[in-house]
Formats: sequence, structure tokens, C-alpha cells
Amino acid sequence: MRGPENVMHPHHILRVLFTADDIAGRVDALVGEIGRTCAAGSLVLVGILRGSFIFFADLVRGLFYHHLHPRIDFTLLQSYGSGTESSGTVEIERDISVDVRGTEVVLVDDILDTGRTLHFAVELMYAKGARSVKSCVLLDKPSRRVAPISADFVGFTVEDVFVVGYGLDYDSYYRELPYIAELTFTHPGAAGGQ
Ligand code: 5GP
Ligand code: MG
Repeated sequence: MRGPENVMHPHHILRVLFTADDIAGRVDALVGEIGRTCAAGSLVLVGILRGSFIFFADLVRGLFYHHLHPRIDFTLLQSYGSGTESSGTVEIERDISVDVRGTEVVLVDDILDTGRTLHFAVELMYAKGARSVKSCVLLDKPSRRVAPISADFVGFTVEDVFVVGYGLDYDSYYRELPYIAELTFTHPGAAGGQ
């Protein structure tokens, strides 16, 4: 296992938590759950960028085989800087453009941590007139929750460790890893304050 090459970083991959095969199996199961729960007619899948992009792509391709053909859109929400601690506020850097009035929205995010991002996104979709809003996250860190929210569809529950890979980054690195791994920081304090 390697991190980005030719660069010295104060962080590196500590261990793989979920292999590419583990992830593929779970994504298949989630696709099945979404397929059984959501109506085919007015479904809009909204990916919360950037961390969800690989998960989102795998989900929508899976939905095709369940005869679900959702409209898709993305929103870029940011609650983190380049470090690992949430700033506490959520900002819309890029809003959706699909009209979600009267539709069934499924929000897709990489990881549910404090819950601030997803809570904000759910409220935003209702404010835009969605009939129902569900959420699907690849990873859930329940021990870190601050906002009153849980996801409808969850891939894996993880402990309070900082994870990267399969779309999740640290400082924009590691998104390309086909697995999900725990990142470790060489210097105490390297994780915070960015
Ligand atoms: P929340 O608003 O729930 O605290 O944060 C959600 C966002 O924080 C996620 O969409 C993700 O971008 C980021 N985040 C939270 N925990 C982790 C983590 O362990 N690794 C990475 N790479 N991002 C995380
Ligand atoms: Mg995110």
C-alpha cells in the first residue's frame, strides 16, 4: 500500500479497513435496498461533492440493473477545510440545478461524521420543495454525531478514525485508492487546524 509517490507527507496509510471487493459487495446491497425502497418515477439522486463521486458513480450504474433511472445532480458542500476537523458551518459552493419540487430525493455522501453536512443538505432539499428526502452514505461514524440525523442507507459503520480512499481525501490526496484505509499522522497535531 502506498500513498502519493514522490512527495514527502506527514501522513501515511496505516491499514486497509475495506477492500475494493468489500466495497463492491456493500454497494450492490445498498443498490438493492434503494431499489426496493424508492419509487422509480420521480427519483433524483444528489451527490454531495467531492468525496462521494466514486461511490455515487457505482451506485447509479447499479441502479440501472434495478430498472431505476433517476435524474442525477451534484452539490458541492463544504464543512471541512484541508484538515480533518469540521469547521462547524456548511457552505454551498455549488448548488443543484435540477428542479426537485415534488420529487423523491436521495442524497449521497461519502461519510456521515458530525452530521452537519447531511443535516444541512436534507433541510436544503425540503426547502427546495422535495416531497421526500432520504440519504445514503458509504460510511457512518456515529460516535462523532453532533447534528440530529441518521442515514437511511449505510454502507459501513466505522470507529472514530480518519479514513481516505474510494473518493475520500486528505488535502485532496488519496481519492484514487480503490480501498478505504485509515490514515495516520506522523506528527501530533498535523491533523488539525487547516
Ligand atoms: P460532517 O458534516 O458529517 O461532520 O462531515 C461530513 C464530511 O466531512 C464528509 O462528507 C467528508 O467530506 C468529511 N469527513 C468526515 N470524516 C472524514 C474522514 O474520516 N475522512 C475524510 N476523508 N473525510 C471525512
Ligand atoms: Mg464530503
